[in-house]
Amino acid sequence: MIKIIKKFASIILCLLLIFGIRWLFYEVRYALYVKEFKEDYQVHLEKKQSKQKIKINYDLEDVTNTKKLCDKLGDISKCFDELPEGLIEEIKEPIYVETEEGMEQLVPPGEIQIIFYDAIGRKTKADGITEFGIGWDMIGMSVNSNQRIEKLFYHEFGHLLDKRNKWKVLIPNSGYYKEWKDVNPEAFKYNSENYDYVMGKCESKESVAFISEYATTRLEEDRAELFSYLMTLEERKDFDQLMTYPKIAEKIKYLNASLIEEYDCFEEDNCFQWQIWLGMNSK
Ligand SMILES: [Zn+2]
Repeated sequence: MIKIIKKFASIILCLLLIFGIRWLFYEVRYALYVKEFKEDYQVHLEKKQSKQKIKINYDLEDVTNTKKLCDKLGDISKCFDELPEGLIEEIKEPIYVETEEGMEQLVPPGEIQIIFYDAIGRKTKADGITEFGIGWDMIGMSVNSNQRIEKLFYHEFGHLLDKRNKWKVLIPNSGYYKEWKDVNPEAFKYNSENYDYVMGKCESKESVAFISEYATTRLEEDRAELFSYLMTLEERKDFDQLMTYPKIAEKIKYLNASLIEEYDCFEEDNCFQWQIWLGMNSK
């Protein structure tokens, strides 16, 4: 009897040890990621939203699965490695506009935070979220999303890039907003559940104007979806293929032009891969 109890106890002890080591391994790995993101990318990483600091009307939960989180962070870290040099610094800079009273600060300098949740926006069913406040920009993502994390990250990052461009690209009937909207088929309205012009659902290449169903919900989602799609293209031939859809090609040009206009860091050899391909195509 005593033998059996001893054996049982040693099995339990072994299991505890294995789980303990595993837990420690992922906690250490997570801590290293926090350090890497802070030092290499000047971005704050958090497992959980501090609700006092940022008020969000979403239903959120803490991340409990550190292993899952670490796997996703590995991919996000690669995404950051590929960002053009100086882009993060520029995103954080304040924006000034000239008014009658002098220079007015439109967007204060911001900290960028990347936050993970187990569940996110269950009320809205969104896997990701971008929020802006005074002194901070935040990208939140669900570790349980079925989407590829790079796709999710770049979609939200696209919103972040547009924040600085907001005054030109997201205000109805202003500059890029109007040009972009005019590319859409005449019969189309955002958020009307009209998927007739979504890629893969439309026979005629000439009519395709949206990369996904979600892109038809709002103009800013249209931009973010296209940006994310471009950022996750692996090969030039896939980009060239995309450019054979005239309306999509037009939107890619506007997206590129608005980014170049707003951010100084984009140069011939310091930009996103798809911008390089676009430059090659237009030569
Ligand atoms: Zn979005």
